[in-house]
Amino acid sequence: MSITEIDKTYVAGTYNRFPVEIAYGKGSVITDTNGKEYIDMGTGIGVNSFGICDDKWQEAVTEQLGKVQHSSNLYYTEPCAKLAELLCKKTGMKKVFFSNSGAEANECAIKVARKYAAEKKGEDYYTVITLENSFHGRTITTLSATGQDCFHKLFKPMTEGFVHTPANDIEALKKAVEENKTAAIMIECVQGEGGVIALDEDFLKAAEELRDAHDLILIIDEVQTGNGRTGEMYAYMNYNLKPDVVSTAKGLGGGLPIGATLLSDKVQNIFGFGDNGTTFGGNPVCSAGAISIVNRLTDEFLDQVKQKSNYVFEALKNAKGIESVSGLGLMIGIKPKGDAKEIITECINRGVICLAAKDKIRLLPALNIPFDTLKKAIEIIKQVIAQKE
Ligand SMILES: *Cc1c(COP(=O)(O)O)cnc(C)c1O
Repeated sequence: MSITEIDKTYVAGTYNRFPVEIAYGKGSVITDTNGKEYIDMGTGIGVNSFGICDDKWQEAVTEQLGKVQHSSNLYYTEPCAKLAELLCKKTGMKKVFFSNSGAEANECAIKVARKYAAEKKGEDYYTVITLENSFHGRTITTLSATGQDCFHKLFKPMTEGFVHTPANDIEALKKAVEENKTAAIMIECVQGEGGVIALDEDFLKAAEELRDAHDLILIIDEVQTGNGRTGEMYAYMNYNLKPDVVSTAKGLGGGLPIGATLLSDKVQNIFGFGDNGTTFGGNPVCSAGAISIVNRLTDEFLDQVKQKSNYVFEALKNAKGIESVSGLGLMIGIKPKGDAKEIITECINRGVICLAAKDKIRLLPALNIPFDTLKKAIEIIKQVIAQKE
C-alpha cells in the first residue's frame, strides 16, 4: 500500500488531506515522495517560521537532543528557564506557563482569568467573551470559546460560560460585558481560521477600555499571529495594546510543539503550586528550538517581514480574479472570485503549497523566505487565480 492508502486505512478520518506525500524539505522548498518540489507558502500552518530544517534551528535542537530530551516539570532545565526569560524581556510580561499547543495555551489563559475573577469578584464571575468567527482550539473548552457553531455540533454540552459577540461591534461587546458576570475578553487581533481578518484598532482599544473599567482580563490569542508573523513580535504590538494574558504556540517552536501563556504583572502570581501543570510543557528540545527562533526576531529582521508583506499586498492588489486581500504582515488572506479550494489544488499541481481559511486562500510563508522564492510563488498564485476567475 502507498503512504496515502496506509494513512487512509489507519489514521482517524479527521483530515481531508491534499494529495501530497511530503518526504523532506529545506527552507521554503518541500519535496514529495515522487521528487516533485513545491514552494511552501503554508509552513505547516504558520509553524515552521524559519522554514524546513533551518540550519541554526536544527543545530539548537540537535545539540539539546544530545543532552537530555525530556525532564518533566519536577526539575529545572536551562532551555525552559532561558526561553521564559527571553519571552518576558521581549514583551514586558512577567511570567510564562509552557504547554504543548495553542489549545492548551488558551486553556491556561482561561484558567488564569477565571481564578483572577473568582478571587477578585466571586466565583460566579466566570464568563469569557469571545468573538463570532473566532478560533481558539479543539478541546471542549476552547471549542466553547470558538465562536463558530459549525465546530460545536454533536459535541455538546460545551463548557459553560462563553458568550460570543460580533467582531468590530463595540456596542455589542460593551453590552455583553455588562449583561454577564464577566471574567475576561479573549480575542485574536487577526482572526486566522476565520478568514485572515485584522480587527479594527478602535474595537481593540474599546476592549482594552472595558477591561480597565470592569477589571477584566484581556486575553490576546497570538497562537497564529505571534512570533513575528505580523511584522511585530506579537500582533497586539501593532495596536499598542497592553494585554493581561497572551497565549501563543504555532510558530514559537519553529516546528516543534510548544505553547506558551504569558502573564502580565497583574496576574503573574495568580497560580500557586498545582493550579496548572503538564508533563511535556516546556520540553527542553522544543524550548531550545524556540530560543533560536525568538532570538532572531530582531527589529531588522521584522522590518524584512514587513517589506515582504508590502510586496505581497502590492502584487495582489487589483490583480485579475481577486476580490480582496486581507491580513497583516506575512499572514495573508486572498478572496478569489473563483473557488478557493480549486485554486489551491491547482497551485499544488503547479508546485506551490497554499492554505485555505473559509472561502479564502491563506498564505503563511516562512518569515525568512528568500525574496525571489516569494516572488515566484506569488506569480504562480496570481496566474492560477486569474485562470480560475
Ligand atoms: C491554531 C490555533 C489555535 C489552536 O492551536 P492548536 O495548536 O491546534 O491547539 C488556537 N488559536 C488560534 C488563533 C489558532 O490559530
